[in-house]
Amino acid sequence: MDAGSSLFPFPSIREGQREFMADVKHAVESGGILVAHAPTGIGKTVAALVPALQYAIENDKTVFFLTSKRSQHKIAIDTLRRIKAVNDLDIIAVDITSKQSMCPRAVSLYREYYSLFVEFCKNEQKNKRCWYYMNQDADALIRIKSEIMHVEELCEWCRSRQICPYKAALEVGKTADVIVCDYNHLFSGDIADKILDKIERGLEDIIVIVDEAHNLPDRIRNNLSSELRLKTLTETARGIRNIDRELHNNLSQFELILRKLVMSAVEDNKKEITVNRAFLIEELEKMLRRRIEVLSYNEFVDAIRSRADSINSSGSADRDILQRNLVSIADFLDAWRTGEKCLRILTINEEPTLAVKLLDPAVLSEPVFRRTHASILMSGTLCPTEMYADVLGATRISGREIVMREYRSPFPRENRLIIVTKGLTTRYTKRGEEMYRRIAQKIDAIACNIKGCMAVFFPSYALQKAILAHMPPHTRERVLVERRDMSKGERNMLYERLRAAQSGILFAVQGGSFSEGLDYESNILKAIIVVGLPLSPPTLEVKTLQGYYTGKYGVNKGRLYGYIYPAITKVLQAAGRGIRSEHDRCIIVLMDYRFAQFPYKKCLPPDFDMTFSDNVEELCRKFFNAR
Ligand code: SF4
Repeated sequence: MDAGSSLFPFPSIREGQREFMADVKHAVESGGILVAHAPTGIGKTVAALVPALQYAIENDKTVFFLTSKRSQHKIAIDTLRRIKAVNDLDIIAVDITSKQSMCPRAVSLYREYYSLFVEFCKNEQKNKRCWYYMNQDADALIRIKSEIMHVEELCEWCRSRQICPYKAALEVGKTADVIVCDYNHLFSGDIADKILDKIERGLEDIIVIVDEAHNLPDRIRNNLSSELRLKTLTETARGIRNIDRELHNNLSQFELILRKLVMSAVEDNKKEITVNRAFLIEELEKMLRRRIEVLSYNEFVDAIRSRADSINSSGSADRDILQRNLVSIADFLDAWRTGEKCLRILTINEEPTLAVKLLDPAVLSEPVFRRTHASILMSGTLCPTEMYADVLGATRISGREIVMREYRSPFPRENRLIIVTKGLTTRYTKRGEEMYRRIAQKIDAIACNIKGCMAVFFPSYALQKAILAHMPPHTRERVLVERRDMSKGERNMLYERLRAAQSGILFAVQGGSFSEGLDYESNILKAIIVVGLPLSPPTLEVKTLQGYYTGKYGVNKGRLYGYIYPAITKVLQAAGRGIRSEHDRCIIVLMDYRFAQFPYKKCLPPDFDMTFSDNVEELCRKFFNAR
C-alpha cells in the first residue's frame, strides 16, 4: 500500500482507485482542490476518505463528507466503521442530517418548512420548554464518541436518553475526525456559520469532500430560490380575512401589485417578463407606508411569519393550508430581498407565478473553497470537470492548485455497448407523429431482442406520452409508466413492479427520480434507451443563464454551461443506471443522431465508446449471445 493508503480497509485497491487516492492525498497535503470525475465502481468513498482522514488525524483537521443522499450517508458511515475496525483505530465520526429531520419533536409542518421550524426550536430553547435540549447526559456523549452510528441510530439512542440528537451530534463534532452531513451544512451561509461556531472550528480546519458534486450547483441555486403563485396570495388574503384584518389588507394590496404586472404582460402578449428587484420592494414599501399601521418591508415579512406561527392548525385542514401559505409567502419575500444576482421572472400561464432564482452558485461555493484547507469534489458524472470547476467558482481562486481528473470506468469495457441510432431525433423542427412512430418502432424492435427489463428515458412527459401512443399492443402491455404527479410511495411501488417483472419496460423521464439517484439492483436493466436530448426550451431563464455565463466566461462557454451541459448531465445520469458492478452488462442506446455530432459528441466522457448504427436489434443479439 502507498499513496496515503495505509488505513485502506480492503485487501486490494482497484484500478483507478489508487490513482484517485494519490490525487486526494496530493490535494490534502498541498491544500489544493481536486475535481474528480470518477465513474461508478472506482470505490470513491473509501478512496477519498482514507487519505483525507489520515491527514486530518495527523494535522488536527476535520473532514466534512457532504452528501445529499441518505444511501451515501450509510455508505460513508459503514466505510468509516470498517476503517476503524480493520485498523483498530480510535476515530470519532458523527452522522448528521438536517436539524428538523433529527428533531424528536418536529411535526410534519416543521419538517417541511425550515424557517418555521427554526423559529419553533429557537423559542423552545429560549423559553426553556425543550426538555431534550436542557437535558445533559455525559454518558450518552461518550457512547456517541466511541461508536460510529448511523444518523437513525443516533436519533433513536438520543430519543431513548431524552437528549436533543442534533445538539449531541454537534457536541461530539467538536472532537470528530469526520462529520458526515448534508451540502447545506457548508454551502448555506447561516447554517454553516452556526455549525462551525458550535463545533469550534474555522473553515481553514476543514477538509471538505463533496460527494455527487454534480448536484451541488443546482442545490445551491435551489436553496436561494423561491416562487410565489398568484393563487397562493389570493387564497391567503381571503383565508386570513377573519383572523387578521390588517394582514388581509396588506396581502390584498400585494396581490394587486402582482395582478397589474400580469395584466401588463398580457397586454404586451408576453408569456414571461423579468421583474426588477427594486420595483417590487419599492411598490410594497409604498403600499405599506400608506397603511394605518406603517410597516417596513422587513416588518411585513416578520408580521406574516409571526401570524403563521400563531395559527393553531391542529385538526383543521383549512388552517393548515393557511399556515403553509403564509410561510411560503414570507419565505418568498425573504428570498426576494437577496442582493445576489438572480433571475426574477413572472411567468404568465393558468397560474401566474413570480420566481426568484439564484444565477450563480459560485457566490456561496467559491468562498468555501477559498477558505477550507482542501476540497475534493467527486462524482460519477462530473464531466466535464472544467465546467463544474468554473461554475462552482474554483477556477477563480488564486494561490491554490486545482487538479481536474477524469478517470476511466474500472468495469470491463465489453460489458457495456453504447449505440447511437442514425435517423431519429427529438429536435423541435423534426418533431411530429411520423418521428414518434419511428422512435416507437425502434424501441419495440429493441424490446423484442432484450431478455429482461429495460428502461426508456424521455426528455419530457409530453414526449413520453406521444411516443407511448405509437407502441404496438404486444410491447405496450409490458410498459410501466412514470407519471409526473406520482408520490414517493407510488414511485417505490413502480420500481418494485419493475423488479418483479421478467420483462418490464420502464417509461420515465430524464432528470427525474428514475433516471437519477436510483440504484437498480442486480443488473435488472439489460438495456437503457435515452430518447433525444433534454435541451431546455429557449425560456427567459435559459437565455438569461446563458447570457450570464457568456459575460463571465465568453460566448462558447456561455452556451455550453447555460444550455448544453445541463442536458448532457441528465443523459449521463440516465445512461449510468444500468451498470453498477463489474459483473453487470447493459446496452445503452442514445436515440438521437445529434449525439454523433459536434458539440454534443465532444461533451460526452472520454470512455464513452460509441457505435453508430441503425441495426440496434442485431447488435443486441450479438452482445447478449457473446456472453
Ligand atoms: S432543541 Fe433539539 S429537540 Fe428541542 S426543538 Fe430544537 S432540535 Fe428539537
